[in-house]
Amino acid sequence: MTNMTHLIRQIISGARLIDNKRKYKILGCGAAAIHGLFAITFLSIHVLPLGIYNVIVVLFYLYLSLVLTGRERYMEIYVLTFSEILLHSVLATLLVGWDWGFMVYTVALVPISFYLSYTMPHMERRMAVPMITSVTVTACYMAMDIQMRYITPVYSTEFSPWLVLLLYYFNTMLAFIFLLLFSMLFALEVRNMQYQLEAENIMLEEIANYDPLTKLLNRRSMTLYLRRTYEKAQLNKEPFCVIMADIDDFKIVNDTYGHVIGDQVLVLISNIISRNVRDVDYVCRWGGEEILILLMTDLSHARKIAGRIREDILSSVVEAKEGNVKITVTMGIAEYHEDVMIQELIDEADRKLYYGKKHGKNQIVH
Ligand code: GH3
Ligand code: MG
Ligand code: MG
Repeated sequence: MTNMTHLIRQIISGARLIDNKRKYKILGCGAAAIHGLFAITFLSIHVLPLGIYNVIVVLFYLYLSLVLTGRERYMEIYVLTFSEILLHSVLATLLVGWDWGFMVYTVALVPISFYLSYTMPHMERRMAVPMITSVTVTACYMAMDIQMRYITPVYSTEFSPWLVLLLYYFNTMLAFIFLLLFSMLFALEVRNMQYQLEAENIMLEEIANYDPLTKLLNRRSMTLYLRRTYEKAQLNKEPFCVIMADIDDFKIVNDTYGHVIGDQVLVLISNIISRNVRDVDYVCRWGGEEILILLMTDLSHARKIAGRIREDILSSVVEAKEGNVKITVTMGIAEYHEDVMIQELIDEADRKLYYGKKHGKNQIVH
C-alpha cells in the first residue's frame, strides 16, 4: 500500500512516468468498458447496428489492450483508436441524432492527438500528424453539425427524452474527463522532462567545474573564484591568502605502489584539505598533484590552517599490499596585498613551495 502511495506521489510530482504499456492497457480496458455500456444501451433500445458495432468494438479494445499493447504496436493503436472514435461519433450521430452528444468525443481527440504524438516512441514529436488529425476532426464535427440540421437521423422513432438527456450528459462529461486526463498526462510528461533536464544540468555543471577523481574544483572554475575574490578584496580591503600545496615524492609513490594507490593518495589528501577549510574557502586541483587553496583569511590564520593540514596528512596513511604509504606535502603561502596582481600572488606561492622543496620538503613556507 505504501509502495502504491509512493508510486502515485512520484507520478504526480513528475519524478516518474507511467510506462506506455501500463497506460495503454488501462486506457484500452476503460474504452472497452465504456463501449460495453453503449452496447447494452443500444441493444436494449433496439438500435441494432450500434449495438452490434459496440459489441465488436469492446472485443477490439480488449484485443488492443491485451495483445497489441504487449507487442508495443503503438502506431497501430493510435490509428485504430482514432478511426474508431471518429467512426463511432459519426455513426451514432447519423443513426440516433445530434442531441445524444456523441460528436463531443471528437473534440477530445485534439489534445489526445498532440499528447500521443509527443509521447509515442515512433512519432518523434512530429507536429504534422496531430495537426492533420485536428483539422480532420474539426472538419468532421462542422460537417456533421451542418448535415444534421438538414437530415433526420435513421432512427427517428421517439426515444425517451430522459435517456437522450442522460446519454448527452454522460457523453459530455466523459469527453471533458478525457480532456482533463490527457492535459494532465501532458503536464506530467513536461514536468518529468524538466526533472531530467535539471538532473542533466547538475551533472554537466559537475563535469564542467569539478575534477572527477578528487571532486575538488578544477582549474577553470577556480580561476573564476580567484578573480572574484581578488576584485572583492580590492573593493573591501578584505584579506585573503593562496596556498600552493604539492605532494612530496609522489612519483616515487606511483613507481613503488602503482597508479591506483597514487590516486588513493590524491583523494585522501584532497579530503583532508577540504575538511580543514571553511565553506567560504575554495580548494582546487591546480595541476597533476598540485592543490591550490584559496582562504578568505589573513596570513596568520592561513598558517594555522596549513599547519593543521600538514599534521593531518602526516598522521594518515594509505594502505597498500606492500605496506602503509606515508605521505607528506610542502606548501607555499602568499597573502594578498594591494599592489599585487592575482597571477603574481600565485607565482609567489609557487616560488615559496619551490623553496620548501629545495629545503627538505614536508614544510610550510610563508
Ligand atoms: P616533488 O616532491 O619534487 O614534488 O616530487 P614529485 O615526485 O612529487 O614530483 P614530480 O613532478 O616529479 O612528479 C609528479 C607525479 O605526479 C608524476 C605523475 O605521474 C603524478 N601524477 C600526476 N597526476 C596524477 C594522478 O592523477 N594520479 C596519479 N596516480 N599520479 C599522478
Ligand atoms: Mg610533488
Ligand atoms: Mg608537482
